[in-house]
Amino acid sequence: MHNKTIAELSAALASGEVSSVALTEHFLARIKRLDPELNSFVTVTAEQALADAAAADAARAEGSAGPLTGVPFAHKDIFCTEGVKTACGSKMLDNFIAPYDAAVVSKMKAAGMVMLGKTNMDEFAMGSSNETSFYGPVKNPWDKERVPGGSSGGSAAAVAARLAPMATGTDTGGSIRQPASLCGITGLKPTYGRVSRYGMIAFASSLDQAGPMARSAEDCALMLQLMAGFDERDSTSLENEVPDYSKGLNNSLEGLRIGLPKEYFGEGLDPEVAKVIETAIEEYKKMGATVKEISLPNTHLAVPAYYIVAPAECSSNLSRMDGVRFGHRCDDPKNLEDLYSRSRGEGFGEEVKRRILVGAYALSAGYYDAYYIKAQQIRHLISDDFKAAFTEVDLIMGPTTPSTAFNVGEKSKDPISMYLSDIYTISANLAGLPGLSLPAGFAQNMPVGLQVIGNYFDEARLLNVAHRFQQETTWHQQTPAGIE
Ligand code: GLN
Repeated sequence: MHNKTIAELSAALASGEVSSVALTEHFLARIKRLDPELNSFVTVTAEQALADAAAADAARAEGSAGPLTGVPFAHKDIFCTEGVKTACGSKMLDNFIAPYDAAVVSKMKAAGMVMLGKTNMDEFAMGSSNETSFYGPVKNPWDKERVPGGSSGGSAAAVAARLAPMATGTDTGGSIRQPASLCGITGLKPTYGRVSRYGMIAFASSLDQAGPMARSAEDCALMLQLMAGFDERDSTSLENEVPDYSKGLNNSLEGLRIGLPKEYFGEGLDPEVAKVIETAIEEYKKMGATVKEISLPNTHLAVPAYYIVAPAECSSNLSRMDGVRFGHRCDDPKNLEDLYSRSRGEGFGEEVKRRILVGAYALSAGYYDAYYIKAQQIRHLISDDFKAAFTEVDLIMGPTTPSTAFNVGEKSKDPISMYLSDIYTISANLAGLPGLSLPAGFAQNMPVGLQVIGNYFDEARLLNVAHRFQQETTWHQQTPAGIE
């Protein structure tokens, strides 16, 4: 059952081949057996899941079930879940029980889906390896010495290990696509504004976007359908109509114009990863696509600009964690200042503190123009690069990450090398564009992801392009050894 996709599980539930309770018990048993080693879940809501599954079965018996009613899944622990601990990977929120549901959470509940629990993540989504989590690192199911990527590493590992058929993720600089790539699954970061950020704990508000992580593009289409749409509670939510994402999955790729940015194939890219990507591109040519080299000349500025904008926004967003209203509070504060500084000092981990310091510095009166304004200008240049590219091509392809999953501990002492692992993903966030990563092969016996970046609101095309590839290849169906 755990090897079935959401589309298949939905059919199995509809035909009565399996009940939601049986399915939920099956996944809970797998989590119990396999997760102690992987650490992909921080909270398992077994009792609630079984109650929700029973309600789903009752709804089905009564004829009021939708196609996703009773399908189990997991939420990244960045989404507020009413009555359930929502810690965002941080000691700061280790005692926080969310008083309301995030928009994405409500939508999945309304569809009758069954939440198995909350997945591990880098602290406040800051990281590329899941090593900054207060709850310890997540292991990559393909090789437990290696990281699963971050910050949605728990979601990626859980889906790759078949502990859940799907999990939600969020992507500020690559946190859906990079772990999807490193764990051999399919992940989609939608256009900024496509999915409501209401109730999603904010890291960098102008970059954060939620999306689905699943094994196939077909499943991502089903999940995005549910997650997408305007929400007046999120002032950056956009009103564009939500198309039927499953409808065009089989559209022909004849005449599709693919752009390959030369900056994504240069120095720093593992030659074996490059080979996998080139082979995947050949597959697209066979399907009738045309390929053209393009240039995104400001790519080298994306990481430096991101590491001003994201810390600046996080220094502001995280100021609400002050030990007064919610979250960690130090013992016996002497006065208000002591309360603030010790609560924050004890509650935040090292990477979060580094970002707050960088952000506060970049926003300070003396440096604002030199850093923050400059970074915003670069952001414009990067958007313009894409705008120019999309006059020539329909979408852009390249590697999701420069290498396969690295070892636990390999980069954690060297922030710059860690930051560079998002070199191909960050630009899409700065420009607000949708991006998808799909399994394209293996290098060093580890999964390699192909990244597809589209124009604004072109998610349907990204899903179509990924689905067609998955009809021709079996990379997305491979299972890590020992996971059967
Ligand atoms: N790895 C990047 C960072 O550390 C991106 C994280 C994310 O997308 N949430 O900021």
